Amino acid sequence: MIEPLFLKPYFQEKMWGGTRLKSEFGCQIPSDHTGECWAISAHPHGRAIVENGEFSGVPLDQLWQEHRELFGNAKGKVFPLLTKILDAHRDLSVQVHPDDNYAAEHEHELGKTECWYIIAAKPDAKLIYGHTAQTRAELAEMIKQQKWQQLLRYVPVKAGDFFYVPSGTIHALGAGIMALETQQSSDTTYRVYDFDRVDPTTHQKRQLHLQQSIDVTNVPHVDPRLQSKKYRVGDAQVIQYVETDFFAVYRWDLAGGGTANFVRKDAPYTLMSVLSGSGQLQINGQDYSLKKGQHLILPFQVKSWKISGQLEIIASEPGEKS
Ligand code: ZN
Repeated sequence: MIEPLFLKPYFQEKMWGGTRLKSEFGCQIPSDHTGECWAISAHPHGRAIVENGEFSGVPLDQLWQEHRELFGNAKGKVFPLLTKILDAHRDLSVQVHPDDNYAAEHEHELGKTECWYIIAAKPDAKLIYGHTAQTRAELAEMIKQQKWQQLLRYVPVKAGDFFYVPSGTIHALGAGIMALETQQSSDTTYRVYDFDRVDPTTHQKRQLHLQQSIDVTNVPHVDPRLQSKKYRVGDAQVIQYVETDFFAVYRWDLAGGGTANFVRKDAPYTLMSVLSGSGQLQINGQDYSLKKGQHLILPFQVKSWKISGQLEIIASEPGEKS
């Protein structure tokens, strides 16, 4: 029988984390400073585990190694995507991630292009996205002189916003933001600035990676042009936010209620995260209940599916390079 793969997430405690993964999504979090829910993850730093059907109990990385047919026999050493929910109770460090080439050479893993769908944001929430330096020498000098106000670009945010964050983009989520992140499966972060904070658990400042940051940052910063598309599938309002070599990301909005029949086009499999509401997923006449906080993969063999109820879902599919 062809079944969806529902996943049990892994949680990461962070000095900037909070309790909203529990209060908003009902997660069993390990502490009151839980920053990240690694919801769909095959990364060795936090694997999600299948919780239903014949693969119940199997970690996603093992499933990728042993049952590649579920992923359309996709190539690649590692499952390429990672879906997280982030609870930024405090500001995250100002950071940048390498691209595939730099990460392969220096970190032996994938690079990290990521994107955020903003689930919630307090009224004056801001994030850092991009910088003002025009040359790499200027970037290095402004970092050395700690000219943060001048260097960093602050952007106001509200729920429903979407940001594409290619590798090489200086960025930081600000306090009071919850976001769903779709990213390459990588855990390489170069910290540029951490607000001179001391981590209360270790009583030390967290490590910075200034030279790597200067090496991998795109200079000058250029905002990517998103060619998002809007269309309807049945009663669902669909937005395709981005389609790149790494991933395509969609919002399926059935918040007003109704039914939508989806047919997969080219991608070998589909990731889904339910952000609000409840309803049903129907595959080959079989019903599965869906509710806020669930994360799942529709494997290769599931070519079409029906969703009904009142639901808001963020979905993603691997791109050409992944
Ligand atoms: Zn990041």
